Amino acid sequence: MIRMENIKKSFGTLEVLKDINLSVEKGEVVCIIGPSGSGKSTLLRCINHLERITSGRIWVDGKLADHRENDRDMVKFSHKDIHQLCSEVGMVFQRFNLFPHKTVLENIMEAPLVVKKEDKAATRESALSLLELVGLTDKVHEYPARLSGGQQQRVAIARALAMRPELMLFDEPTSALDPELVGEVLEVMKKLAEDGMTMLVVTHEMGFAKEVADRVIFMDNGYVVEDTTPEEIFTNPRNERTREFLNKVL
Ligand code: ADP
Ligand code: MG
Repeated sequence: MIRMENIKKSFGTLEVLKDINLSVEKGEVVCIIGPSGSGKSTLLRCINHLERITSGRIWVDGKLADHRENDRDMVKFSHKDIHQLCSEVGMVFQRFNLFPHKTVLENIMEAPLVVKKEDKAATRESALSLLELVGLTDKVHEYPARLSGGQQQRVAIARALAMRPELMLFDEPTSALDPELVGEVLEVMKKLAEDGMTMLVVTHEMGFAKEVADRVIFMDNGYVVEDTTPEEIFTNPRNERTREFLNKVL
């Protein structure tokens, strides 16, 4: 589903990703952990063209999603290609970014209607079933401001799913939530994982990583330092930096 080869990404003179090689298979759930500033968000953002890579190659679902030799290499992608990529890749951020003046249902229907120009009745039907999946059938006509953070994040997940993505990227989806609201969001993500969704999840929720992930990746200072099973990384981390990090957070 994702293949990254020799990915580098710099912001000016700051090299943030330093030769990343990474694959994610269809149906796999991969958690990315690591200290703040290690490049986790940038890595996710490169996958769906929110950032351009400086060099390397990325494939998403078998298609070349980005490639560059260096930052002077003017590889252009058409709007159509980027459009296609973005509808295949759903993303959920730490902040929910819902449309404040639209109801829950309208938030979910927006992209399929406007971007995909889908039929309104069918879009409404599938939006309602997504709200059932995330447990919010009683909030269909509510406005985001009247929902808790956990409920808003579940709407954000439903909204991303409305485009029927092949792959979901989560960037610390529970970090902005009060502790008592974290569980309800993780539950929805767990359900998605069980349904076979391919997921790449940046998280500090080690319990979730242990329970749900097929693989856990530890990033530090722009490198993938360790890429292994949850059992291995949590019981027997090979790398000293992984061990130090886990000692701090566990
Ligand atoms: P993480 O998500 O692991 O905390 P990020 O990918 O957000 O790390 O950031 C990695 C590094 O890249 C940090 O030093 C950050 O300040 C820098 N960075 C991220 N985005 C930008 C940007 N748009 N411009 C300049 N520097 C950036
Ligand atoms: Mg981040």
